[in-house]
Order: sequence, then structure tokens, then C-alpha cells
Amino acid sequence: HAKKEGRGSICFYQQHYEQDLKLQLKVQRELPNALKHHELILYYQPIVSAQGRQLKKVEILIRWQSSVLGFVSPATFIPIAEETSFIFDIERLVIEETFKHAAQYGKENRLIYSINISPKHFESDNFVTYLNEKMLQTGVSSQQIELEITERNLIMQQDAAQKRIEHLKSLGFRIAIDDFGTGYSAISYIKQFAFDTLKMDREFIREMLGNRRDLALTHSIIRMAHNLGMQVVAEGVELEEQAHTLANFGCDYLQGYLYGKPQPLQGVIQAPERQVFHGID
Ligand code: C2E
Ligand code: MG
Ligand code: MG
Ligand code: MG
Repeated sequence: HAKKEGRGSICFYQQHYEQDLKLQLKVQRELPNALKHHELILYYQPIVSAQGRQLKKVEILIRWQSSVLGFVSPATFIPIAEETSFIFDIERLVIEETFKHAAQYGKENRLIYSINISPKHFESDNFVTYLNEKMLQTGVSSQQIELEITERNLIMQQDAAQKRIEHLKSLGFRIAIDDFGTGYSAISYIKQFAFDTLKMDREFIREMLGNRRDLALTHSIIRMAHNLGMQVVAEGVELEEQAHTLANFGCDYLQGYLYGKPQPLQGVIQAPERQVFHGID
């Protein structure tokens, strides 16, 4: 009997695996069209100050509306793009469009534009030169550009990564560690690399109200980050009570559905300091 069940579950997983593979192949096949047919759009998600709840930063998140596959999540197509050189094309598009927006509205809105950079791109030889060129071409201030890199970005070639981060910082760009706490070497990374911002993963935020250990961890991570000279963004803030607690812990910025889901970048208003997302708590 047990054997039968075992088989059944193998079949079940295999089916899922095969569906997954099918989707992956379709995505691989369609990815070139995403670029050719301009199916990629930039969305942004607001990031607000924890104290005044004012719009201070925007995270740029890519969206793909495929004419063949419909909506495809970046969680699905970014890893596939990372296996090919498409990630370069995609992220150059993201960088170019973001710089265009920042050149047009950045001086007035004084926002920080936060861009996700994948490992392959970050480690590529001409990445720094490319960014620097874009900055000079568009006149965008590097201080308004933040690069989000995840822990897994840095696993390879730590010395090279450290040099690159220092180089980018010397040019004025800001560097954030994204999804902090989900990888294997979070602490060793913040020991080695001088990030400006720590983005605390939404796993911690999700559980913090119902779980003492998560609550203690969020508080400790914020203090540790501050002691290391980093500012903290909490991801995945959905409830006012979470926002309130995080603000009391001294968290600097909040991001999550409470303040807005990702939406087209074109909609960013030009005078965000007047845009308050929530009353004083
Ligand atoms: P991420 O950088 O951690 O981005 C945050 C993700 O959390 C976004 O998912 C956002 O929609 C979601 N999120 C934000 N607030 C909440 C909330 O309150 N509740 C919940 N449940 N979710 C929330 P999205 O847009 O689907 O992006 C997924 C991932 O894809 C991103 O995770 C990022 O790693 C990657 N990605 C997106 N755009 C790019 C890009 O241009 N380049 C690279 N390399 N990766 C990208
Ligand atoms: Mg991110
Ligand atoms: Mg993140
Ligand atoms: Mg995340």
C-alpha cells in the first residue's frame, strides 16, 4: 500500500516538474520577442519613510506582458534570462528607462531609484563603465541611483565583488543588499561589504506580529544595521501594526502593499514630498 502511495506522489511531482519545464521552454522561446516587441514595462513600488510616511524611494520592478504567454512573473523569467545573455538586454533596458525617468523628473522629485541587478550583470567587466556612461549621458545624479544586489550575487569572487562595490560607491551610487536573511551568508556579507542599505526580507515581516522570535530578530537586525552604518528598508509591509512596530524599532523605510503594489513608473508624481501615505500613528 505504502509503495503505491509513494509512486503516486512521485507521479504528482513529476507532473509538476514537467509542467514547469514546459513553461520554462516556452519562456526561453518567447524571451527574444519580449525585447523585439517591446513587451517589457517598468513598474515601480513606493518606499516610504517610516516616520513621516512620505515617498522617498521607488523600487523598479520589471513586468512582461507577453502576446503569446500572457503575464509572466519576473520570478519566472529573470532566472531564465540569467542563463542566457538576455539578462544584459533586459537590465540595460531597465537602467536606460530608469535613467530617462530620473533625468526628466529626478531633480524635482528627489527620489532614490532602486534597481535590481542580477549577479551575471553585476560581475560583467563593463558594468561599472556602462553605468558611469549612462550617468554622464543623462546628467542623472548617481546619488539618486541605488543598486539592489542579493546575497547570491556575491557568492563568486568575493574580492572582485568588494572592489566593484567600492568603485561604484566612489562614483556616488548607493548599494543595497536585497532580501537580507534569506541566503546562507548574510552576516559574512555585511561584515565584508559596505552596503548603504539593508533590505530586510518580507519573511521576517510576515511573521513578526505572531512570533516572538521574528519580532526579536527584526528589532536586532535593525540595530545591527544601524551599528554598521546602514539604513534599513522593511519589505512586504501589509499591515499598519507592522508599520507601527517597525517605526518604533527605528526602521528607516517601509515598502509593501500597505503603501502600494507595483504600478507603471510613468505614474510617479513629480512632487512626492507632498504625498503622505498614512497619517501619523
Ligand atoms: P524583490 O527585489 O525582492 O522585489 C520585491 C517583490 O516583493 C516584488 O515582486 C513585489 O511585488 C513583492 N512585494 C512587495 N511588497 C509586497 C507585499 O506587501 N506583500 C507581498 N506578498 N509581496 C510584496 P515581483 O515584482 O514579482 O518581483 C519578484 C522578483 O523579481 C524581485 O524580488 C526581484 O528579485 C526580481 N526582479 C524584478 N525586476 C527585476 C530586474 O529588473 N532585474 C532583476 N535582476 N531582478 C528583477
Ligand atoms: Mg529588490
Ligand atoms: Mg527584495
Ligand atoms: Mg524579496
